[in-house]
Amino acid sequence: MTINPDAKMDESQNGTEIYSTDPLVVKSTYSIDYIHSYAQDSEFFRALGKKKLMGSRCKKCHYGFATPRSHCMMCGAETEWVELPTKGKIHSYTTCYFGSEVFLPQTPFNLVLVEFDGFDSLFMARLIGAEQDDMYVGMPIVAKFKRLQSFSPTDVYFVPAKGSEKRSPASPKKKK
Ligand SMILES: [Zn+2]
Repeated sequence: MTINPDAKMDESQNGTEIYSTDPLVVKSTYSIDYIHSYAQDSEFFRALGKKKLMGSRCKKCHYGFATPRSHCMMCGAETEWVELPTKGKIHSYTTCYFGSEVFLPQTPFNLVLVEFDGFDSLFMARLIGAEQDDMYVGMPIVAKFKRLQSFSPTDVYFVPAKGSEKRSPASPKKKK
């Protein structure tokens, strides 16, 4: 047994970054493994690995949702899974210059709300392969799927369809 009256705990940088003294606001770093269920949305995430987008349609009023939804928001009846087309159109779009921890390093990036023929609600996804100035409402876009599936909504993203370049009003005959 060794007695050491000068023993000291190891120091850590965690919590030493101070943002305010009253109230005291410090920065701490933490990381966790999060095991969670997709429950009734599981089919949507499984399908992404098969390069399929699954939506849902109301069995009673036939409202078509471009997202997983177990019950109809219009009439409350149960829905069933239906495959969405992989081609759609931009309903609206934005460019994000800020994001949560995971997405922050990827900024700026484009987000689009996708409209599908035969469906009544929209699907939100990333659009790559186009700059902010290239996007327009009604632009035809195509779904792409990541090869390495992470069972996350980002397993699917969109790219512009071939020939979807915006025609400039100043030079309508301009070729690409
Ligand atoms: Zn319904």
